[in-house]
Parts: sequence; C-alpha cells; structure tokens
Amino acid sequence: MDNFSEFKQKVKDANDIVSVVSKYVTLNKKGKTWWANCPFHYEKTPSFAVNEVEQFYHCFGCGVSGDIFAFVQHMEGCDFYDALKILCENSGIEMPDFSHDGKDAERKKEREQIYAVLRDAALYYCKNLNSPQQAKPALDYIAKRKLDTASVRAFGLGYSLGWNEVIDHLKSKGYSLDVMQKAGIIEKNQYGKFYDVFAKRLIFPIINSNDNVVGFSARVLEPTNHTKYRNTGETPVFQKNECVYGINLIKKLRRSEALNEIIIVEGQMDVISLFKAGVKNAVACLGTALTPNHAKQLKKYCNKVVVCFDGDGAGKKATLRSLDILVSAGLDVYVAAMPAGVDPDELVLQNGVEYYRALIADAKYWVEYLILEYSKNYNLKRAEERNLFVASALNVVKKLSSNTEQNVYLELIKNISNISVDVLRRDLENIDSLKVEETKQEKVEENAGVNKENAYVKAVKFVLAALLHKKDYAELNEEVKDNLLDNDVQKLYDYIYECKTTGKTPIVSHVFDMFNVESTPIINEIVSFDFNSIIDNKNYFDDCVKLLIKSGLEIKQRDLANKISLESDIDKRKEYSKQLSQIILKLTQLKKK
Ligand SMILES: [Zn+2]
Repeated sequence: MDNFSEFKQKVKDANDIVSVVSKYVTLNKKGKTWWANCPFHYEKTPSFAVNEVEQFYHCFGCGVSGDIFAFVQHMEGCDFYDALKILCENSGIEMPDFSHDGKDAERKKEREQIYAVLRDAALYYCKNLNSPQQAKPALDYIAKRKLDTASVRAFGLGYSLGWNEVIDHLKSKGYSLDVMQKAGIIEKNQYGKFYDVFAKRLIFPIINSNDNVVGFSARVLEPTNHTKYRNTGETPVFQKNECVYGINLIKKLRRSEALNEIIIVEGQMDVISLFKAGVKNAVACLGTALTPNHAKQLKKYCNKVVVCFDGDGAGKKATLRSLDILVSAGLDVYVAAMPAGVDPDELVLQNGVEYYRALIADAKYWVEYLILEYSKNYNLKRAEERNLFVASALNVVKKLSSNTEQNVYLELIKNISNISVDVLRRDLENIDSLKVEETKQEKVEENAGVNKENAYVKAVKFVLAALLHKKDYAELNEEVKDNLLDNDVQKLYDYIYECKTTGKTPIVSHVFDMFNVESTPIINEIVSFDFNSIIDNKNYFDDCVKLLIKSGLEIKQRDLANKISLESDIDKRKEYSKQLSQIILKLTQLKKK
C-alpha cells in the first residue's frame, strides 16, 4: 500500500460509519443493521441500511451504496478530498499535504480555482441586479417575463454591466486572467485584449448537482443578429452534453418531497417560469439535444420523465429524437402534448399553471404518443397508407416485452385503423417470424446465448456475493477464477482470493476503494446482495459454481468459434482452434462428472 492508501485507511478506521451517518440522519438498530429514512430520496418507511460490521451503507429504495467517504461526499456535495478533510477534522487526524502526489492533485487544484472564479463571477453578476439604473435592460426583461424576486434568486440570475467590469472585479479578488479564461468567462479579441464573453447580457448560472457553478448561459438584451443565447464553451468543469439545467434544485427537492416525475423542457426560461408558478420538477438541456449522459443523470433522481417540448415541428423532432435515448436509459417516458408554437413558459403565462399541470397529468406513454403521431402522417382511408401506418405502429409495439402491454396498444391501433386485434396480433408475430426466416439459425443461437448468459451472470453474482460476505459455505475454486469473463468481477475475485489465501478477511468497505461502485452495476449488486431472496445454502452455492463454470466455458466456446470464422490469418486461426479444443475437452469432462 502507498502512503495515500494507508492514510485513507487510517481515516476510515478512525471514523465509524454509524456515528458519521448519525450526524445527518436518525438511525435505528434492528438486528445487526441500522436503518433510517434515506437522505437521498424521499420516503416514509426506512430503506436506508447501514452495515456497522462491514462499514458501508445501501438504500434498498433508490439503490445508492457507498462507504463513509461516499456518504460525506453526497451529503456535503463535495469531492473526495474535501470529504477526507472533513473526516480528518472529525477524528482529530492531521491531514498531510498530498499536493506533491502528481497530476491528479494539480488537476484538482485547477478545477477548484475554476469553481471559485465561477462562483465569484456569478455572485458579482447577481449583485449587479441591485443597481436599478445600471441593470435597467436586465430588470426590464425580468419584468417583461413576469419573474419574481424569489425565482430570480433561486436561479441566481445576474447581469454583466459591460466588457471589462467582471475582469476588474475578479482581478481585485486575486484571480489571474489565465484562470478566468480557463473558466470560459473571458476571451481575447483580435487585438489581444481580454473581454467579458457575456458582456451586457442577462446571466443564468449553470449549477451542477454538487451546487458548483460550472458555467453560464447568457441572453442578449439588445437587438442583435447573433443567436440570443450564448453558453460557456467546453472547459475542464463544463461539458454541455452532461449539463442538466435545474438539476441542483431537483436534488434538493427530492430530499424534501416525493419526486414522482421530472419534466424535461427546452430552455432555461421554461424551467424558471415553471418554478415561479410552483412546478419545481422541471429541467432543461442547454444548447444541445438530449444525450445519453443527460438521461443517465436524470435516472439517478427519478424513473419517470415527461418530455414537454414546443408543439411545433422542431419541438416534435426533438421529442422523437429524445424518446429513443430516454427509453434506452431505462426510464419510464411520457410525452406531454403542447399546442404548436407555444412553449411552457408562454403557456403558463397565458393559461395559468393549472392548465399546464393538467397537460402534464395527461401526458401519454411514449408508445401511445408514437402511434398517434404516426397516424397523423398517413391518409388512413387509403388501404396502402393504412397498411404502412399499421406496419410502423406494430414496430413500436414490438418493443414492449409483455403481452398484456402489447394488447393495450393493439387495441389502440385497432381503433385507429379498424383492423381487428386478431389480425394485428398475427401481423405482429409475423414481424418477428419474418426476421427469424432471414436469419433463423443465428437468431435461435443468439437467444439461447442470451438466456445462458443471464443464468451465468446470476450465478456469478451469487458466488461472488457469498464469498465477499463471508458465508461459511463459500469456498474458493480455481475453475471459478478462470471463468469470470468480466474484468471488474475478476478484480473483485482477485481481492477476495488474496485476502483468503493470506489469512485476512475480505472487507466490503474496501470494495469502495477499488471501484466506483455506483457506476459499476454488477459490483453494486454483489456488494448489496439480498440473501433473503434466494435459498441461501451450500447446495445452492455448489450448483451456482457448477453453472458458472459450465456456462463460462460455453460462452468462451461460442466466442472462439465466432473468432475462428472471422479470422483470415492462418496462424491465429490455429491458435484459436487449439484453445477451442481445450475448452471442448473441459466441457466433455464436466458432462461426465
Ligand atoms: Zn434512497
């Protein structure tokens, strides 16, 4: 272990997770476990569990888990080093200077400076709104949009007085031009002189889920030929494909009340005027179409999203594009039908918030939305167009996994097309069988492969969980090691193996040092494995070990056969064939046993 890991361990040893967590939430002990209402999502019955022996927490409601460092990071909205600092102070340990530990520390220092300069710039812009005369253009605009002081404050709106004022202010606070530039606040003109990128604009700070200002979006207030909004370019702390406007407020909201859904709107003005009207669960993606990164962030806070873009052509296009991404991220996706040419901001101003709430409550499940949209594209009185509509609608229905769900939407297609559900159901099955015809052989094998893989993954999770959680029936097995196909799982197995063969006990909280558990689903599931939901005994363990080895070999066999068929290099083919025959030999031996 290096100095840093040793120090980290020392801090961990000195801070008991139960007493650290108790500072933030009330824990009650039941059996071996401490329970609390989860501080990360709203709930009425406790599902947040703290394991005193293993020194980690897991929420059975929202799925978060971690060690003391992760807990403090989340609660304080700080990064790892700051959590370390807090825990040092907590336990009277002096924190050494790790800044000589190379590039990471340098980068971290740079990021900190950038966050600091952005925060000070935001505060400065904000304060400018207090001068009625100087900030007149901004205040006029705010009044025109009927925003109130509370919303202006909640989102930290501000105003840039001119080309140099922010530079002078930040200089007086000791910031260098270099850090201002890195933060994206200033840039050089053609004569080499620096100026405020957002000069004379209304400023919307962009704040991340840890409450750091990461950049700005700024609106022009004078007539101009340029685009209305200008956003911070990519900087070390700002990537636009990750940034969700309003996510900081969603995080806060979720701690204080049940968050049933997140509304996705097009722009920040929509988010703010909805907030003012009392709809506090809206977010927007700034200056870019929705990306898988955005979807992933939203999923952290809520499973259901309602897409609510402008009802015009562009808005519809954006809706269609985002549906795939959101559905693929595993979200429950609904679409609110907005009137064409109206955005939520205008709608709330014109028709009131209740009208808007009704639209959201009435949002359609994405499947229904798509079917209805398709039906508008065809003249359904003509047979051939009706057939085209049915084909595209059935393609959507096909994506649903349960028959019951499919039936609901077949019924809808029937109502639109006047074709009976029986016929539609047959067509739906034909879509599949047509595909199977083409690639029958492949498809069958593929499916068998998928099922095998599911059983395999299930076995891997249980075997590793039993080993990690020190079940007395769980023993090491060389063959298991050889048949773990996932690198992370391999790494976890190596850790357990090293512990057990050197007379140490594997400790769950160590796993959090080795992985970013939250973003490694399979490790998260192993760490927080629920032994109550299975038959937890030696027979089951042995069965899983057998299945793991056999399926592992079969998956390898399939991959090698594939590789051989695609490989043109004769030597490589020979090598693969050799490996393949060894695997086949092992499989035959297994079957004999
Ligand atoms: Zn939770």
